[in-house]
Amino acid sequence: MEVYRCERCGAPLEVSPETIVAVCPYCGYPNHISGNMTVENITLVPSLNKNAVAQAFWRSVEHDFDLKRIKDSIEIVDVEGYYTPYWVGNVHVEGDVDYTVREEECETYTDSQGNTQTRCHTVERHYHDYVDEVLRLIGSARRQIQSFGVDDLVRHYSKTRPDEKPLVELGEGEWERLKLEILNTEIDENQAKLMMREDAIDVIRNRYSSKADRIDRFDVRADEPENVRLVLLPMWTVYYKFENSIYHSVFAGWDGRRVASTEPMSTLRRAEYMGGVALGILIGAIGGAYGAAVSAYALSGIAIGLGSILSGYFGFKVLEGQRVERGG
Ligand SMILES: [Zn+2]
Repeated sequence: MEVYRCERCGAPLEVSPETIVAVCPYCGYPNHISGNMTVENITLVPSLNKNAVAQAFWRSVEHDFDLKRIKDSIEIVDVEGYYTPYWVGNVHVEGDVDYTVREEECETYTDSQGNTQTRCHTVERHYHDYVDEVLRLIGSARRQIQSFGVDDLVRHYSKTRPDEKPLVELGEGEWERLKLEILNTEIDENQAKLMMREDAIDVIRNRYSSKADRIDRFDVRADEPENVRLVLLPMWTVYYKFENSIYHSVFAGWDGRRVASTEPMSTLRRAEYMGGVALGILIGAIGGAYGAAVSAYALSGIAIGLGSILSGYFGFKVLEGQRVERGG
């Protein structure tokens, strides 16, 4: 079997038949192995280190209403960081869209008695738009199902637009300071460009599907994507322990912002949810009894139904035992 070595420092590289690019773990140089890829187009968003992320975790605990009160019983179990690859690029879309929207049209008139009246009816209005814009798209360069917090991280990236550095320009010393495990890139540049063009069309189509009652013509084309690059985004997960259960918080590596988190349910919230269960049972019981007493069986059926939905919902919340927090 062929042994791959880093083009810059000669260190052996771990390569599988699917590897598109192998970033040298010693010097950080991106080595092109297979598929279509320009290594100059790989950029990295520099990450905070493990200690800084742990500090960001404790700050997020201080700012969290529920976690703050149990912070003395929280213990960090593990802090894990990765660079995850995403394809980013700009796609120019252009073309025509004809669509129809049903609208309510009202008019006021004076009737024979001299009173003012309003008369309404539905009309179909036809519109034509000429679409001409550049979409900034980002998509995972990996095929597998995304893990918890990934969507939140991508949203945070699009909002904050952190600085990126071309990977080939990072010196060994800088890499030593910034390095983390890099997850494999599984989609090459050609595939990414194809997907971006399809995504761009979908974005426009979805926009019109949501505002139109009917699309009569959709003739929008997507140009070849521009400024396409593979961006390595640092994502950190802090695993923490509270009363024998493990929870986790996901942080953006560039600014230490918590983007998603699972949290224990506090006793206060548990009590709120238990209150919901009790209320559901009460509605079911009273409504059921009242309905039966006055022979209004439909009413008692509704009350019992509503009651059991309520208690079921809150009961499920209690059993779940944890909450999900998003967006810091
Ligand atoms: Zn190397």
